Amino acid sequence: MSAETIHRHADWVLRREPAPEAPPAVYEVECTGCTHSSGAADESGAVYEWAARHAVLGPGHTGFREIVHHFWRAFPTS
Ligand SMILES: [Zn+2]
Repeated sequence: MSAETIHRHADWVLRREPAPEAPPAVYEVECTGCTHSSGAADESGAVYEWAARHAVLGPGHTGFREIVHHFWRAFPTS
């Protein structure tokens, strides 16, 4: 899904949040073995690095769930 993706319903259109302070995305990964989290970050690289460091804990800590938040805003079509 690109930043240009538009979702329409009735008289509203949903577009990526245009506010300059809104990040394009917020990333987080959670260990599926112990539910520890990387914490949220504006860049995916930081959370992937956390996962690689966390995997050092052993076989019960090598699976991860990625959570990515994108911000949207609804606008009237007319
Ligand atoms: Zn873990």
